[in-house]
Amino acid sequence: MSTSVNKKVGFLGLGHMGGPMAANLVKAGYEVLAFDPVPAAQEQAKADGATVVATAAEATAAADIVITMLPNGRIVLDLYGEILAAAKPGTLFVDCSTIDVADAKQAAEMAAAAGHRAVDAPVSGGVAGAAAGTLTFMVGGADADFADALPLLEVMGGKVVHCGGAGVGQAAKICNNMLLGISMIGLSEAIVLGEKLGLTHDKFFDVVSTASGQSWALTSYCPVPGPVPTSPANNDYQPGFATALMNKDLGLAASALQANGVDGQIGLLAAEIYNRFNQDESGKDFSAIVTDIRKRSGEEPA
Ligand code: NAD
Repeated sequence: MSTSVNKKVGFLGLGHMGGPMAANLVKAGYEVLAFDPVPAAQEQAKADGATVVATAAEATAAADIVITMLPNGRIVLDLYGEILAAAKPGTLFVDCSTIDVADAKQAAEMAAAAGHRAVDAPVSGGVAGAAAGTLTFMVGGADADFADALPLLEVMGGKVVHCGGAGVGQAAKICNNMLLGISMIGLSEAIVLGEKLGLTHDKFFDVVSTASGQSWALTSYCPVPGPVPTSPANNDYQPGFATALMNKDLGLAASALQANGVDGQIGLLAAEIYNRFNQDESGKDFSAIVTDIRKRSGEEPA
């Protein structure tokens, strides 16, 4: 019986997140067969010690576990359609991309129908967490499949939560990010109102960070420069977590609210607000929404 580190890992999608995640598996002693269509990503993976192969099917055929870290659900489903037939029977597929709950369930069904196993395992923690191996994984799938994925997820992450069956990892991800988007907008509206009423940012922070309006958005990611020196507001809103990604996640949350008949008025409005902001400022950190609220309120930048 081989130990988990002797398992071969196929890694498909070596972008901002997948590249460093694959590198951490190599560092932990896993043999990683990697594929990405982009030459620069291939070069980086080679430099990190992965074996770069010519196609996704080639990486899959030799692997015991296949990890995907891809831009969206359409690409995940198309790729599963391409690679499932190449896999050894019973291969475990671990999709770490952020995708629609319905797409995640479909991916798991496709894997099962082809004689394989699958879990959804989206992450939070961003590029810095991917590089440091401190991501949080939210996993949906059967107990035994979760147990098999766990040693690898623990290499790439600092916290791994088994949230439930297929698709429930994605559910946790979009619920969290919907709440984050809503709370960043609410916080930013309160800050701009405070500005209008003569409340300085420092005094706002001093009061609200220990009062009932306290939130992660304020204490770890303050959208105005000063109170939290590490927040993107201090660096001209360079991401961080780009508005384009928040817009994507709120779009997934909005479609899940609608598909499940939830009266999520604030979540839907947050999706609209970030969708509008994303038209002009997709590359800015999502906390820059405060600058948009200020502009739309007829205020000069503070
Ligand atoms: P990215 O665009 O940097 O990387 C995606 C990679 O997938 C690219 O290198 C692309 O070439 C590759 N790819 C596309 N089609 C492929 C295919 N058919 N086969 C193999 N590779 C293919 O994106 P990212 O920032 O690494 O994000 C990946 C996923 O993680 C997304 O779903 C995103 O929502 C999620 N996520 C990102 C962050 C973040 O901060 N960047 C945080 C949490 C979650």
